[in-house]
Amino acid sequence: MKYIIYCRKSSESEDRQEQSIDSQEHELMAMAEKQKLTIVKILKESQSAKKVGRPIFNELLKMLSSGKADGVLCWKLDRLSRNPIDTGYVQSLLQDGVIKNIKTFERDYFPHDNILMMVFEMGMANQYIRDLSVNVKRGNREKLARGEWPNHAPFGYLNNKVDKSIVIDSVRAKYVKRAYELYLTSSHGFRDVARILYDEGLRTSSGKKVLISHIQRMLSNPFYCGIMLRDGKYYNGNHKPIISKSDFDKAQEILADKSRPKSQRLFFPLRGFLKCENCGCALTSSTKKGHDYYYCTNRKEKCDEHKSYMRETYLYEIFGNIFGSLAFSERKIDLMYKSAKEKIGIDSEYFDNALATLQNSLESLTTKESKLLDTFLADQISKELYDQKALDIHNERISLNKQIQEFKNKQPASMLEPTKNAFIQGNRAMKEFLDADNFKKRNIVENLCWNLSFKDKNVAQIKLKTPFDVMYKAPKNGTLSEMLGD
Ligand SMILES: [Zn+2]
Repeated sequence: MKYIIYCRKSSESEDRQEQSIDSQEHELMAMAEKQKLTIVKILKESQSAKKVGRPIFNELLKMLSSGKADGVLCWKLDRLSRNPIDTGYVQSLLQDGVIKNIKTFERDYFPHDNILMMVFEMGMANQYIRDLSVNVKRGNREKLARGEWPNHAPFGYLNNKVDKSIVIDSVRAKYVKRAYELYLTSSHGFRDVARILYDEGLRTSSGKKVLISHIQRMLSNPFYCGIMLRDGKYYNGNHKPIISKSDFDKAQEILADKSRPKSQRLFFPLRGFLKCENCGCALTSSTKKGHDYYYCTNRKEKCDEHKSYMRETYLYEIFGNIFGSLAFSERKIDLMYKSAKEKIGIDSEYFDNALATLQNSLESLTTKESKLLDTFLADQISKELYDQKALDIHNERISLNKQIQEFKNKQPASMLEPTKNAFIQGNRAMKEFLDADNFKKRNIVENLCWNLSFKDKNVAQIKLKTPFDVMYKAPKNGTLSEMLGD
């Protein structure tokens, strides 16, 4: 790595305490020698850094941008900049990796350090937090407790979009009944059931034969007898059952019966999160000799990866290790949080003022309303005009409320606590994952990952959800970066 030494001292009062340019140079050269750094240029400037447009500083930026150097050595960060524009520019060069390292006498600054700070400051966790299934799940649990199904209706049912209820799909429900009938009254396996239903006209939405796994799920989903199963918990559903509880129970007995050929385990926590790097297919899973395996189905029939079977326990270890890389020391999280809070505090003033203006407008509507009513009661305006004006006020109130709500969501400070929580969640992810039961495991994977792809039983690509992707890539033992120019 090639470094530039940048020394600066102005004659202004603020700089009087600073070392002279010569002594800065002397100290920095000694440091470079000690750490065996390659110095390509020494730049000296005798101007204040409070204003934009220092000629030597601009030369420094030019050299860095053109790749003639990739690191800067300076006494303190305030030698580089004391104004927000230059600071922002240096910061963005660091974040983009154009500057790979800024070394000061106190500490190092690396691109990834600052990206972590960006997570805090710019609410990178925003989308994640918005999607965070914790909130969604809370809403879902309430729905489930009321007997409502929060998701897409299972095969045999339809979602009534008007009142959000679940209604029977009279065409497909017949096939569900038939599947249970076939399964209960004869020795038909899943494959036979799928074939007979196909012969009797059942097709998937793309016109194909229904998969065996689909039949399995149909025969084990208590939804059809009026019970909703969600994350390992049962709820009473409001929807009409298609089959009786006793028929469902009988089917479960047969499913559990080991003598029955190929009764497979139905819940694979990692299903849907694993891909074959070679052919791009999703990995499937099955149970063999008491162990669960994941493998490429070789659906495109040109993949040689289908012979690598990976044990579930092996994959748990891999996931555990990845989640382990999301951990940062509590101290580092706390420092980042505090630093971001300080910085955001300045922006918050603007937000608070704007919010107060909106709220004042909202309050003034109430005054307007009562004045309008007075005018009407005093017979000064017609009923038509009154109705018209009242409607205007009503509409304005709705629009203002919406504006205020949106504004509150945008407030930078509102993202701080949740972002901190995302970090803490990352901290605990490994232990929680390894300790969790299968339902919870899937839950954690779902929260943190898009997917992982595999080649020769090794991880080829890791795609995590933001901000965990940033946290994963960030160096874990790098020096804590605080704001530039502080
Ligand atoms: Zn493959």
